[in-house]
Amino acid sequence: MRANVMLTGDRPTGKLHLGHYVGSIANRVRLQHAYNSFFIIADLHMLTTKNSRADIERSAGNARDMVLDMLAAGIEPESATFYLQSAIPEVGDLNTLFQNLVTVPRLERVPSLKDMARDSGKDEMPYGLLGYPVLQAADILCVKATAVPVGKDNAAHVEVTREIARRFNHLYGDTFPVPELIHADVPTLVGTDGQAKMSKSIGNTILLSDDAAAVRRRVMGMYTDPDRVRADVPGKVEGNPVFIYHDAFNDDKAQVEELKERYRTGRVGDVEVKEKLAAALNRFLDPMRERRAKYAAEPGLVDQLIVEGTERTREVVRQTVFDARKAMGLTST
Ligand code: ATP
Ligand code: MG
Repeated sequence: MRANVMLTGDRPTGKLHLGHYVGSIANRVRLQHAYNSFFIIADLHMLTTKNSRADIERSAGNARDMVLDMLAAGIEPESATFYLQSAIPEVGDLNTLFQNLVTVPRLERVPSLKDMARDSGKDEMPYGLLGYPVLQAADILCVKATAVPVGKDNAAHVEVTREIARRFNHLYGDTFPVPELIHADVPTLVGTDGQAKMSKSIGNTILLSDDAAAVRRRVMGMYTDPDRVRADVPGKVEGNPVFIYHDAFNDDKAQVEELKERYRTGRVGDVEVKEKLAAALNRFLDPMRERRAKYAAEPGLVDQLIVEGTERTREVVRQTVFDARKAMGLTST
């Protein structure tokens, strides 16, 4: 029997938002006690689309914000290991060993890579971006993770990890688990623009760290049913971002059903629907605000978690790289 190990994380490109929450963080919180939990700050993955000096300089602050976001969301410091990817060079060793277990056409078929190249304004695919899923396989397998909770945009990458693990085990003997993808209740959360997935790079986000006034402002500016010009015109609930958020975040399910009914029959204005959504989101975020304030008041806590977590993870990774090299016959001691 293998131990339950969870690995997931984020690139340090900004603060975490509701999309991250439903796609991955909700499952991190839910599973943190059932798994030995590793949360990667994937700064090497950031470099595949953002590698200017300014991007890199911002990443340290972003990393701290992300860890605080996770603590605020309910990850308990004593049940989690946060670590900085670039501070563990042995991950690169594993990446090198894995590069020969997957073909270029296979990687070229991963749909999210083309989206990422396009969104970051690159007209050609950098070698590192093509290798993004291989490096992610190194992240996941360097701690021998058995479970990976990620959003839909990342699911194809986890599939590559599973293939690499199987291929390695087939060639060199059973060394790695074939990790399970843990699906989210909302695989992709649409942004406040109603157009694309909620994303830092697009700016259509509601942040976990937004205050009540900011949340209200973002909600009041949200897109709804474009065909509905007045409150007495029947509106469409399906695919309407305001109702998608009501479904995902409003704990008052009876209120949501009642609003939907009145919306469909032209008996409620957008303003009331949005006011109730803003209130619901603030109810949802309030406990996070309390926890954030508590953890933020402990000086040095976040830095200490990252430093100690990285040291702990590095020990695990060293052992994994040794296991892999030994299985391959590259070393015997
Ligand atoms: P963004 O996509 O906001 O620019 P990012 O690409 O830097 O941020 P990632 O590090 O790729 O963020 O994503 C971290 C995790 O959050 C991944 O598991 C991803 O699937 C999930 N995620 C990100 N955005 C969304 C969303 N809108 N809906 C659901 N899951 C999401
Ligand atoms: Mg992303």
